[in-house]
Amino acid sequence: HSFVQAEHLVKRFGEHRAIDDVSLSIAKGEVISLIGPSGAGKSTLLRLLNVLETPDSGTLRVGDAAMTFDGTPVKRARVLAIRRHTGMVFQSFNLFPHLSAVQNVALAQMRVLGRSKDEARTRALAQLERVGLAAKADAYPSQCSGGQQQRIGIARALAMDPDLMLFDEPTSGLDPEVGAEILAVMRELAADGTTMVMATHEMEFARHVSHWTCVMVEGAVIERGAPAQVFDAP
Ligand code: ADP
Ligand code: ADP
Repeated sequence: HSFVQAEHLVKRFGEHRAIDDVSLSIAKGEVISLIGPSGAGKSTLLRLLNVLETPDSGTLRVGDAAMTFDGTPVKRARVLAIRRHTGMVFQSFNLFPHLSAVQNVALAQMRVLGRSKDEARTRALAQLERVGLAAKADAYPSQCSGGQQQRIGIARALAMDPDLMLFDEPTSGLDPEVGAEILAVMRELAADGTTMVMATHEMEFARHVSHWTCVMVEGAVIERGAPAQVFDAP
């Protein structure tokens, strides 16, 4: 029984079909990598899974929260019911520059989960510690390195107590050594049984950490399977 069930998702930007009839199911504890050329739709697919972008059509169920999309306006309460299950880590970190690390991590919990300021702050500090950034809790993003900013982004996602973690090329803006540290954090999460979907150009990670790989081209999943099968196909 899958935890996430996406059926026939379509997303157009103008005439362009960024996502063209994609279905995906994810069981608890699965680690899925999305690979494919730039512009294939990996980032858009991730953003559909937590309804940061609204699909034009299709259905989506995450845990007990389900939505059908048909072009009519979506209700924010329904979107939040899905988003509450997810934590998202962005390529360009998406931190608010005028908020400290702990404030950035606390904000999403207050807005999406309705947690009180005190509770959100306590949980934020715990997650910053988990990613090795307790010392930077009161620092602003501009006072943090790229790798530290991405750790803040991971802490923010983890603080949502998510059932599903979504990673959008989390290492692509970082130096290789720093990216390797972020991948190490992700390996730990995978080993802990975290359900994850990651868009990535990190083939080593896709091959050795993910359980399933989806190959995307022009908005469609053209191939999917175990990494060994996908990468060693003749
Ligand atoms: P990937 O993550 O695989 O590089 P994206 O999901 O970012 O691909 O993009 C898929 C396609 O959708 C690309 O053609 C991109 O230009 C287009 N696209 C993505 N986001 C938007 C947007 N907000 N407005 C218009 N076009 C977009
Ligand atoms: P908006 O009002 O713009 O829709 P929200 O209130 O949903 O934003 O969220 C506030 C901030 O928290 C945003 O910066 C967003 O990027 C971040 N955020 C929201 N949900 C999540 C999540 N599940 N994982 C990580 N960050 C999130």
